[in-house]
Amino acid sequence: MTLIKILTVPDPFLRLRAKEVANVTFEIKKLLDDMLETMYEANGIGLAATQIKENKRLIVMDCGIQNSRQEENEKKEFVPNPIKMINPELRFKSSEIVEREEGCLSIPGYNAKIKRSKSIKVSYIDQNGNKKEIQANGLLATCIQHEIDHLNGVLFVDYLSRLKKETILKKVTKNYYKNNDEK
Ligand code: ZN
Repeated sequence: MTLIKILTVPDPFLRLRAKEVANVTFEIKKLLDDMLETMYEANGIGLAATQIKENKRLIVMDCGIQNSRQEENEKKEFVPNPIKMINPELRFKSSEIVEREEGCLSIPGYNAKIKRSKSIKVSYIDQNGNKKEIQANGLLATCIQHEIDHLNGVLFVDYLSRLKKETILKKVTKNYYKNNDEK
């Protein structure tokens, strides 16, 4: 497997609306595996193809197995639950909203509380080319909405006030140019 460089803001590729994947080829399956490995290596819980400069509607996530009997803040052992989605599409968004702390591998070092639908339904193609539809709640619902946003060129900072958004983007952009100059 291959680790891939994750783009950070202000890379214009992050603002692209990604293209649908026509066929689940060997290359697509390999890309999904590489994305998952890249995500784990970066300690992320989600990654979209646009974040690694691939113009394709692909997302990978691992929010672990969720146990509804456990309290949200309770410390629990992480049970891996890798999910790969091709051409994901939101079919339903609950009107009930939750606010959750979000971060993004493309905006390193910054978190913010973002309001999103508490539960969702999403349809997608799995790595075997089968059409699937799942309902998601909790962290996974937030994660799926965050990753699908990426495929539409939307970043979590877009939901913040203009001042907050510009402050975060300015700081990350400064590091982006500093790091690129050093190379
Ligand atoms: Zn992100």
